[in-house]
Amino acid sequence: MIRLSDYLKAVFGEKIYRLSLSSGCTCPNRDGTIMSGGCTFCSEGGSGEFAAQTGDLSERIEEAKARIRQKTDAKRFIAYFQSYSNTYGDPDRLRALYMETIRREDIAVLSLATRPDCLPPGIMALLADLNAIKPVWVELGLQTSCERTAEAIRRGYPLDVFTKGYAALKQAGIGVIVHIILGLPGESREDMLSTARYLASLDPPPDGIKIQMLQVLKGTALGDRYLKDPFPLMTLGEYAACVRDIAGILPPRTVLHRMTGDGPRALLIAPEWCLHKKNVLNTMNRCLQDCFVPYELASARPETVTRRPG
Ligand code: SF4
Repeated sequence: MIRLSDYLKAVFGEKIYRLSLSSGCTCPNRDGTIMSGGCTFCSEGGSGEFAAQTGDLSERIEEAKARIRQKTDAKRFIAYFQSYSNTYGDPDRLRALYMETIRREDIAVLSLATRPDCLPPGIMALLADLNAIKPVWVELGLQTSCERTAEAIRRGYPLDVFTKGYAALKQAGIGVIVHIILGLPGESREDMLSTARYLASLDPPPDGIKIQMLQVLKGTALGDRYLKDPFPLMTLGEYAACVRDIAGILPPRTVLHRMTGDGPRALLIAPEWCLHKKNVLNTMNRCLQDCFVPYELASARPETVTRRPG
């Protein structure tokens, strides 16, 4: 795997930072189109509690930049539309919003979190147009390749929908980052490694991956279940070892965009160790230290697809 910071420096010449933004979209798994309760682990914020929500686009971007600039003097950013399904909405409205975003000088990449069943032809055409201006990353929430678990977490689509949506995006030349969750109830370590094997078998394999420990949150179906009848959760050591095994399965060119969760502290029920971010990062970095390959080395491999700078 490639470290995200190495990848960004190699491709963009500098570290660029994510701005969490809201597109105003909802999700077919919440609005009744597929179902109304949402995935069992998903909180009301649609997995995007930190997104700037108010004001016009410029104001939201400046608000998000102000937060980042408390830590860095970054000049260019990834516009990350995180909450809910950001390709689920009126294509004309989304076109206006994303075109305005991607044309800004301070935006290097447009990153859209969504579902693989929210990629109709009009949206695919929009993504291709945007990707012709600057790199577009589509972040697909797979969580698991196991059909049994997918049903249990009410993901609302079978694996072949992911496979088709993923193929359409790759055919259009769009970067795809896949989100997976480790520690879902009922999943064995072998199930989690199977998900990694499934991703490694895709042709081409994903450009990036976000791996997250299951966080049981207040106000979710999973949280309610856990409070009534707690189920076992992975320890930090088990989680780190599993991420390490996944790193060994994925192709070297896959960029690791996230290796821990970033859920809202106030909503967290368990596991408690997720709250100690510094300890989690130190443990993960120790465990994964020999899993990363330099970007140049991974890029030299024949299967590597290099991205153009924005
Ligand atoms: S698809 Fe995403 S936003 Fe929709 S309910 Fe599931 S996790 Fe939440």
